Amino acid sequence: MITFLSGGTGTPKLLRGMQKVMDRHEISVIVNTAEDIWISGNHISPDVDTVMYLFSGMLNTDTWWGIRSDTFTTHDEIMRLGIDEFIGIGDQDRAVHIARGEMLRNGMRLTNITKLLCERYGVRENVLPMTDTEVTTQVQTDLGLIHFQEYWVRAKGRIEIQKVVRSFNEPPVATQEVIEAIEASDAIVIGPSNPITSILPILSCDGLREALRDKVVLAVSPFIGDAPVSGPAAALMHASGYEPNSIGTFNCYAGLTDVFVQDIRDPVEVSHSVRFDTLMVDEDKSVALAQEVLRLIKAC
Ligand code: GDP
Repeated sequence: MITFLSGGTGTPKLLRGMQKVMDRHEISVIVNTAEDIWISGNHISPDVDTVMYLFSGMLNTDTWWGIRSDTFTTHDEIMRLGIDEFIGIGDQDRAVHIARGEMLRNGMRLTNITKLLCERYGVRENVLPMTDTEVTTQVQTDLGLIHFQEYWVRAKGRIEIQKVVRSFNEPPVATQEVIEAIEASDAIVIGPSNPITSILPILSCDGLREALRDKVVLAVSPFIGDAPVSGPAAALMHASGYEPNSIGTFNCYAGLTDVFVQDIRDPVEVSHSVRFDTLMVDEDKSVALAQEVLRLIKAC
């Protein structure tokens, strides 16, 4: 078994390839939940949804969020009624959020809800939220301390970030299922996700780092030069005191990685790194990188 740490874009692109080159039951994914948010009374878990939709074959891989060919009738009507629903939520996608919200209100654990939804959608992989309690990534801006989604989706990342803060009522603890998946794995892959908003929240769950201690850990950089392949990672790295590049990414995972993978085009040198084409512009590229990752793991 291989366990992946994932956000909602970079690592899912790698998972798209992994599911083609290994037994799908041998894939576990620990998914970031620090971007979760309640919208219009329902619970969105954006990274869990993306991973679940990917594995069920429903994901819109043009945008890497939402369901392919979804309609937006409810969202359009809600906006017409004057409610500022700042995330465009598709109708089918909303059904998932309604179901999850309802189950959470009934006291179910997010882990069990995810398992149930994945079963309903025929997912064969093991999709695990990092924790069962609420934790939220917020950013300090001139507008005050705002949810990451307010910064990235509503403000389109166009405002300065001074600081990144993770808030919670109780410190997040890695679930028993997460720890068991790591223990049962031959290797752990930190995919090319945003180190600050996707990977560090997972690594910060109590018990997670200890579980990784004796494991082979491979990480893939989401940066090429001083820019991420997509998204706001550079601003977030900067605001968190890390260089916005592969060295900063390597430092985010200090003491954890046995193998660090950088893109062949990356001018930044991380010593002892392994170089591959990590730009997963289509499914073939995802499969090619997945094969290299698998080869590396077998050689460890
Ligand atoms: P989010 O939850 O939507 O922010 O998604 P992730 O955290 O999983 O992924 C965002 C990161 O993926 C960004 O920092 C991108 O640089 C990185 N990324 C996206 N596509 C690729 C790719 O094809 N190759 C690599 N190496 N990184 C990628």
